[in-house]
Amino acid sequence: MKYISTRGQAPVLSFEEAMLTGLARDGGLYVPEEIPTFSEDDIAALAGLSYEDAAFRVMKPFIGDAFDDREFRSIIGRAYEGFEHIARAPLKQLDSNHFLLELFHGPTLAFKDFAMQLIGQLFQASLARSGNRVTIVGATSGDTGSAAIEAFAGLDNVDVFVLYPHGRVSEVQRRQMTTPDAENVHAIALDGHFDDCQARLKDMFNDHAFRDEVGLAGVNSINWARVLAQVVYYFTSAVSLGAPHRNVSFTVPTGNFGDIFAGSIAKRMGLPIDRLVIATNQNDILHRCMTTGEYRTDKVIPSISPSMDIQVSSNFERALFDAYGRDGAAVAQLMEELKSGGFKVSQGALEALREDYDSGMATEDETLATISHIAEVTGEVLCPHSAVGVKVAEEMRNPEVPMITLATAHPAKFPDAVEEATGDRPGLPPFMASLYDRPERVTEAKNDLAALQSLIRERRTT
Ligand SMILES: *Cc1c(COP(=O)(O)O)cnc(C)c1O
Repeated sequence: MKYISTRGQAPVLSFEEAMLTGLARDGGLYVPEEIPTFSEDDIAALAGLSYEDAAFRVMKPFIGDAFDDREFRSIIGRAYEGFEHIARAPLKQLDSNHFLLELFHGPTLAFKDFAMQLIGQLFQASLARSGNRVTIVGATSGDTGSAAIEAFAGLDNVDVFVLYPHGRVSEVQRRQMTTPDAENVHAIALDGHFDDCQARLKDMFNDHAFRDEVGLAGVNSINWARVLAQVVYYFTSAVSLGAPHRNVSFTVPTGNFGDIFAGSIAKRMGLPIDRLVIATNQNDILHRCMTTGEYRTDKVIPSISPSMDIQVSSNFERALFDAYGRDGAAVAQLMEELKSGGFKVSQGALEALREDYDSGMATEDETLATISHIAEVTGEVLCPHSAVGVKVAEEMRNPEVPMITLATAHPAKFPDAVEEATGDRPGLPPFMASLYDRPERVTEAKNDLAALQSLIRERRTT
């Protein structure tokens, strides 16, 4: 299995190389050269398997010979053993033909643990073999950073630096990043928005000298291995509702487009997905783009679903690459135009996108109203991101096709919004109860590339 860049100018890499690299050298994102397909029998055979066994089968065709079967199975086993639910991604019913896929039973209570725990173990195995050391730098709107710090804390041959927007993550998210005491993990509060964090991260990757000097690696949602890990739960949930013999649809609370893009991979592998619905909060560049064809950045407006407060949706580039017939030069041109504010998607590409995706958005009031309504009629307490998904799913769904809405975080990660909606403050699960008592460790930094680079050079332990 080979991986190519969405901008067509970077070297073709193996799975392991693409995973260790993150962003391609031409600024693009790695995608598989071809998508492997599963027959109906292959999909039917997933029924009744453990999450780990299904994960092995779904991901195996993408990793080539990077790891032998025994090693890959044990990597997957270690990745998910810290989850608090034996099913890993349990499915709950909300209404007739509307289901909630609970992706928040991992160690940091958000779906990002699915990918990050796996990638931590993959890096560890790969670096142990090569003897190389790497510096992982990540940008986060909250959940990626905590998931990365949790996944890599104490692992060998790796330092992790996480840039998060100062004052713009929830207290639980911040504490999950600042309280682990392993020497190799570093939380950095950047004076700016998430998009600034993401821009500085891209700058570091595009500074090839720095990149080579510190052995820079990325585990943001642009990393292909993360997308791959997320393909698995589309299969396990669809199969438990009757796939391959029955179609299902998914609604996905979306920011950087990694999670929903994984759904489109599952679909191309042969999973019978009817609709993939993009659900955004008031930062709705994706919904506007799907509606009008204009992808134009706007100011980020902080919301109660902060993990979706973005204007530039990095993984959307992968969807554009496919919509433009895998024309890397066309994608490079669009990304050039994006630097000065945006671009118009061609008619043909827009039609291709609409074949795969629907879209909708939820305002702040609609999000709160959904949390409160769903708690009242089902007893299920949603986090604000999941509520954005449920609101859009209810609006868009065909009652005849089962709809699965992804619940991306535990409500206790966003207690203020949930309390405002329901009157009750959701408590942390017992295994995290001491979070508010642990000492914090954080470095504040200016939104400045050179300053960040020296900070990283100085603090690296490897
Ligand atoms: C990251 C995140 C999202 C958005 O996921 P993308 O893959 O960036 O689209 C939604 N909800 C929560 C809770 C998240 O942490």
